[in-house]
Amino acid sequence: MLKDLLTAAPPVLAVAERFAAEEMAPNAAAWERERRYPRDAFARAAAAGLCGLFVPREAGGLDISCQERIALWEVMARADFGFTFSLVVHTAFAAAIARNGSAAQRDRYVPAMMSGDCLGAFLLTEKQSGSDAAGILTRAVQDGADWRIDGAKTWVTNAASADLLHVYAQTDPEAGWRGIAAFLVQADDPGVIREEPYFMLGGHSMGVGGFRFDGAKVPADRMLFPPGEGFKAALGGITIARIVVPAMCAGMLQAAVDQATAALTGRRAFGRDLADFQGLQWRLADVATDLHAIRCMAADAARRVDAGEDAQIAAAHVKKFAPARALEGLAACMQMMGADGLKQDNPLPRHLAAAKLAQYMDGSSEIQNRVLARHLLGRG
Ligand SMILES: Cc1cc2nc3c(=O)[nH]c(=O)nc-3n(C[C@H](O)[C@H](O)[C@H](O)COP(=O)(O)OP(=O)(O)OC[C@H]3O[C@@H](n4cnc5c(N)ncnc54)[C@H](O)[C@@H]3O)c2cc1C
Repeated sequence: MLKDLLTAAPPVLAVAERFAAEEMAPNAAAWERERRYPRDAFARAAAAGLCGLFVPREAGGLDISCQERIALWEVMARADFGFTFSLVVHTAFAAAIARNGSAAQRDRYVPAMMSGDCLGAFLLTEKQSGSDAAGILTRAVQDGADWRIDGAKTWVTNAASADLLHVYAQTDPEAGWRGIAAFLVQADDPGVIREEPYFMLGGHSMGVGGFRFDGAKVPADRMLFPPGEGFKAALGGITIARIVVPAMCAGMLQAAVDQATAALTGRRAFGRDLADFQGLQWRLADVATDLHAIRCMAADAARRVDAGEDAQIAAAHVKKFAPARALEGLAACMQMMGADGLKQDNPLPRHLAAAKLAQYMDGSSEIQNRVLARHLLGRG
């Protein structure tokens, strides 16, 4: 259905489908088993042209729409949620520099990010401040012509291998969110310490981990957003992220429906095909309804973004709805497959873990309810 919504770039979708089938699907189980960030796959994604998706055309990118984005991320997440999210973060960062950076920043980083020589990461969350992102404690203090950064960041997608870090830091604690600025920090800058990637429930192909900054020196010309603009920039990209993650949930749910359908038609019990049992038929139909609902909600929110309308509420609805329905639908499809659904060579256990991760990423389910309730009650 989403393919029909595409207007401009079917070749990009075809490239993504092929990349998912040839590079991701055959390797994703090993990435998870080895808890490995697949830097080799990132290089191949760049070679396939998948790292400049949102960079403006004049800077060599494809500048695809939000409706096109969700179709593309959906087909890739069908193969692997983790690596798809790695690309989501990287490509959004490349576009942010291309659109907001100085000429020197653009020239230095955007081509390298598009060619796969430089992997990007977004560092907002800290141990004491996740949902309440304005409460970050990482400090940036002016030191002559440089900034000195001290603090620690947690839950950084791509941390395992990232070269360029989009670091949010407080320049003036008295100013609250208005004091937050964003810097381009290189992972090899003195004072930057990469920590061991996390051992999580799943999703290891997104290479999540942490960084510490121990007097990291960052030249003044590497400030991407000044104080006052930093926090607004961080929140600015979040609406699209809250539409993209649900589209990725739809991809995983489609994989589950496909697997369950094959299982029900390929196995007999009590002298009948499993597909003849009405209880199983209805469960499968319920999952398909949830999948359709997620796609419709994500498409509606993406259309609003493309039309320049406020999509915040539509995004909050689908970001709350999709991971929860994906969790339940994936579990239901695994149940329909019998014990075979539990084997790790099957993608559904991997997808089930990823659906749980999706309930936190880019704002937890509770934070979506907070957005929705404040809007309903006029406290937004
Ligand atoms: C796989 C993964 C990848 C991530 N990647 C990145 C990344 O690349 N960069 C980055 O900066 N961050 C990243 N994050 C962090 C993510 O944005 C945070 O996990 C999220 O914002 C929630 O913060 P927290 O985990 O600190 O939970 P907390 O904010 O500590 O919340 C704890 C619980 O309280 C609930 N809660 C909090 N406030 C309220 C409230 N007002 N009302 C009701 N309930 C509330 C939360 O929903 C949650 O259930 C990632 C997270 C995950 C899981």
